[in-house]
Amino acid sequence: MAFFQDLGKKITEGVQDASKKTTELIEINKLKSSISSEKDAINATKIQMGDKIFAMFNAGEAIPDTMAEDVQAILARLEKITELEGKIEEIKAASEAEKASRAAAAAPAAGVGATKFCTGCGAALAEGTVFCGKCGKKQE
Ligand SMILES: [Zn+2]
Repeated sequence: MAFFQDLGKKITEGVQDASKKTTELIEINKLKSSISSEKDAINATKIQMGDKIFAMFNAGEAIPDTMAEDVQAILARLEKITELEGKIEEIKAASEAEKASRAAAAAPAAGVGATKFCTGCGAALAEGTVFCGKCGKKQE
């Protein structure tokens, strides 16, 4: 009987241990999540610090010498962005020009010399056409 009581006690202790470990793990994960949030906030603040330094430079204010190289690197990248955006505009403009020239090329072809329309099918016909080239109907 003492054996079973002992076993029961051990099982209860084991379950309590496991439950305690789970609680600990949950607590540790919560703390790790809080640490992660703090680190994210620090990084966001560091980015803001960089923005402030850059704004100071743009306003003609003195910035620390150690930042000058970083500011120059940003300026070079801004120039690169402008260049890349220019390429996008070039592609768009070329595409628009092509579309316009295609529309211009298509428009006269349909309407060239068309001064009347087929009484049968409505196709554009040149003045003096007797039979419609599309449906063959004789024009009045
Ligand atoms: Zn016709």
